[in-house]
Amino acid sequence: MEATGGCYCGSLRYSVSGAVAVSLQCHCLECQYITGGNPNVIVILPFGNFLYTTGSPTTFWRGDFKIPVLRHFCPNCGRAIGSRSPARPNSMIVKVGTFDDQKFFKPQLAIFTCDKQDYHQIPKNLPADDKTVVKG
Ligand SMILES: [Zn+2]
Ligand SMILES: [Zn+2]
Repeated sequence: MEATGGCYCGSLRYSVSGAVAVSLQCHCLECQYITGGNPNVIVILPFGNFLYTTGSPTTFWRGDFKIPVLRHFCPNCGRAIGSRSPARPNSMIVKVGTFDDQKFFKPQLAIFTCDKQDYHQIPKNLPADDKTVVKG
């Protein structure tokens, strides 16, 4: 696929090419912080297929975590774009809501449902796992 996206204010823009490796809906507590309460919907891409075309992200990681992910966000509007995980050093994890057109997204698995809140929805027939971190 060829796709573009960016932050809320337009200071950060990116382009993506090639196939999405994994499409997930994550219910973990960290994702709830980042989204504002709902599960996070993300796609995982080979890092080489993700390119910032305008601007550079500010990054942040939690120093108190043993294996923190590096979070990318816009230095101007604060919009979270995605993250890099030490568990997937060759991947970029991108938040679906930052794509200009999100219609391509189809989650293949709901993960960390151990942290699921009662108000979270899991689409009918979507496989769910309480902890799994999918390789890919
Ligand atoms: Zn921005
Ligand atoms: Zn999560």
